[in-house]
Amino acid sequence: MNIYHSRMLMTPQAAEAAIDAELPGLPIESRPLSQCVGGTLRENIFAERDYPPFDRVCMDGIAISSETSRRGVRRYAVQATQAAGAPPLTLADAESAIEVMTGASLPWGTDCVIPLEHYVLEEGVVSLTGSVNDTPFRNIQRRGEDGRHGALMLEAGTVLGGPEIAIAASAGLARVRVSGQPAFMVISTGDELVEPGEPIAGHQIRRSNTYAVIAALRARGFDRVSNDHLLDDEAMLNDRLALHLATHEVLILSGGVSMGRFDLVPKVLKSLGVREVFHRVAQRPGKPMWFGVGPRGQGVFGLPGNPVSTLTCLVRFVLPAIITAMGTRRAPAERIGLAKPVHFDQPLAYFLPVSVELDEWGQPWASPRPTNTSGDFLSLIGTDGFVELPPGPMTYPKGFVATLYRW
Ligand code: AMP
Ligand code: MG
Repeated sequence: MNIYHSRMLMTPQAAEAAIDAELPGLPIESRPLSQCVGGTLRENIFAERDYPPFDRVCMDGIAISSETSRRGVRRYAVQATQAAGAPPLTLADAESAIEVMTGASLPWGTDCVIPLEHYVLEEGVVSLTGSVNDTPFRNIQRRGEDGRHGALMLEAGTVLGGPEIAIAASAGLARVRVSGQPAFMVISTGDELVEPGEPIAGHQIRRSNTYAVIAALRARGFDRVSNDHLLDDEAMLNDRLALHLATHEVLILSGGVSMGRFDLVPKVLKSLGVREVFHRVAQRPGKPMWFGVGPRGQGVFGLPGNPVSTLTCLVRFVLPAIITAMGTRRAPAERIGLAKPVHFDQPLAYFLPVSVELDEWGQPWASPRPTNTSGDFLSLIGTDGFVELPPGPMTYPKGFVATLYRW
């Protein structure tokens, strides 16, 4: 490919921006808290109350007035017991104590908790042993110390893990608004492809891309994933793609987007009303990539069929675009230095498979693991992902810092 022609193509950054601009946001749904793990929050969550909502006892012991203790009083009559979950009692007089349990509301009239290992209790009277710490609010978590009523606790775009779900529960929410998962249709195309488990002839190829794509989607928590296989046949492509467009939000095709006589995918998609946003990106591998938007806002990704291209384009473009369409805040790019110099002679962005290795100081480096061709997916074994190097021709020196995309 000559330089002039490549300049006509979109850069990966422009392709990414075009996808983000064209792919509509995915719908919001309300789900019970127990079904929200891994989901993206689509509302702000505010504190229902102060945290903690009352002065909270944090040790089992007795609650007293610290002032009485500072006057030198060492014996207290135990008036009552205050358990967690009971409304706060009131201290009857300054020389009494109320037995308190962890999590209880601090009794009115007390301001200090003495843990039970610092006194003996005999016949309803506590005698302090040794010196005790009677600083006011010792062993008490003050009301509002962790957070204030009405404060923003979780922002829309947050991915919900254990701590976030606990916060939503503490805000009193039984259900929260999260992004719905898109229905994915993963489609392989090609007359040469044969399903694993089926007999295969010497001139045929195993249908492996579909499994790689499904695995990458499932590994990221997507579970509405179906798949189909289509021959390089215009009528079949037309009928089945029409059906898939009617029933799915995201179509991920592999194969059939290059310049060959049987690369019919762009033509058929266009005839079905899928508007082409771009075809071909100045990158290696994956130059023939196609992207369009269907009449109902369906995202249609036509990935080149060579297995390394398919996976690279999936990770570089499709997965981040879905995450953005779900309203998820994107994690910052992971940057890494090359462990050794790399030469690349094309005026294309270069997606170079790497393994991440730690040096003697524990510093990560990207060790280049180039494939023979974009069909050589065996070389991906043991790699962690790829780095995106800017267009050549260029020798990228050792230590050259690039963005890492993990498989
Ligand atoms: P294409 O993009 O259709 O020209 O395909 C490029 C190469 O990728 C061909 O050698 C195909 O056999 C191979 N290929 C296409 N689709 C798949 C697939 N689903 N699994 C494995 N290899 C594929
Ligand atoms: Mg093909």
